[in-house]
Amino acid sequence: MKVLVVNCGSSSIKYQVVDMTDESVLAVGLVDRVGIPGTTLKHEPIGKDEVLIKKDMPDHTAGMKLVLEVLINEEYGVLKSMDEIGAAGHRVVHGGEGFAESVIITDEVKKVIKDCFDIAPLHNPPNLMGIEACQELMSNIPHVAVFDTAFHQTMGPANYMYALPYEVYEKYRVRRYGFHGTSHFYVSHRAAEMLGKPFEECKIITLHLGNGASMAAVKGGKVVDTSMGFTPLEGLVMGTRSGDIDPAIVFFLMEKLGMDASEANSYFNKKSGMLGLSGVSNDLRDVLEAAASGNERAQIALDVYYNKLKGYIGNYMAKLNGCDCLVFTAGVGENAIDIRENVCADLDYLGIKMDVAKNKVRGKEVDVATEDSKVRIFIIPTNEELVIARDTYNLAK
Ligand code: ADP
Repeated sequence: MKVLVVNCGSSSIKYQVVDMTDESVLAVGLVDRVGIPGTTLKHEPIGKDEVLIKKDMPDHTAGMKLVLEVLINEEYGVLKSMDEIGAAGHRVVHGGEGFAESVIITDEVKKVIKDCFDIAPLHNPPNLMGIEACQELMSNIPHVAVFDTAFHQTMGPANYMYALPYEVYEKYRVRRYGFHGTSHFYVSHRAAEMLGKPFEECKIITLHLGNGASMAAVKGGKVVDTSMGFTPLEGLVMGTRSGDIDPAIVFFLMEKLGMDASEANSYFNKKSGMLGLSGVSNDLRDVLEAAASGNERAQIALDVYYNKLKGYIGNYMAKLNGCDCLVFTAGVGENAIDIRENVCADLDYLGIKMDVAKNKVRGKEVDVATEDSKVRIFIIPTNEELVIARDTYNLAK
């Protein structure tokens, strides 16, 4: 069976076609600027030249229709007909408390996705738009939802409850959910394979460090804790998100800067983090470069970034009572040699010792701990699409 993996953002559609007989990827692509003048479709049939199509797309249905046309195109397509697609898997950011696993999409499931619009206003509406566009165009196949929150639903109340009046949990479901779950799931399972132990017997700390960033502590096959909370704003310092701060700063700055709630939301999500602190960029490559050429604010931003990560490693070591391995993944985790080295420096008391020569590597699955390190340090490129394709295949067959 071939599976179409779809990830819809507010103005983008990312897709992959995966052949489940050997899990090979046949094509990857991205439609950008959906609903905005200047839509482009970048399509890469694996092993052939990339194709760029410029054609305005008013909405996700039009964008998806173009994707399906491209997939069966005689010249650069990868399918003879759409009948070869046996199922479609959709990334959905928020499944609330409803889903601890992937599910076949029914009207009931769509209602739960819609019920989460309130708590995931930027992500769930475009996710649902993508699902409905695909269902309209491919009504004869099963569609599966794979939730970013699902893996973290294995967390217990000790880590998902906030110390707020209990009724806000009962009434509004204010609690910690966690995100990037599909990535934490994939890399923690790969880590168990690299450790050569059953997943259920491992204690693993995963660091998904991209523009958005989160960590998870995994034990006994379950998430014990994760750094993102009610929304992706909580936790680590990110490209443009503040991560953990004293919540009183929000009221203080709303008053001082005359912001309303929506402006404050944007301030802490889009103008803070490495961008706000360094004044250079949200991209860590730029911040590293600026710091290396003497920019003091960039160096402070990096020090705050490392410090927060070290703090979470210590926190999770305590919650897990030690761990077998740390796993670095996503754009920063897979590629940023200096960042990994600085995060792991001076953690030998916790049994974490990096071999800095081995660490000089990008985007490869490798153990970069010293021989005598009690804790292994893995770099594992994430593959959320493969998890989506596998779950979709397993539910559809
Ligand atoms: P997201 O999916 O959250 O947008 P990614 O996981 O693709 O992010 O990561 C993108 C980020 O990875 C970039 O913003 C950049 O900061 C970082 N990055 C990529 N390569 C490097 C590198 N060689 N050194 C430092 N940072 C890097």
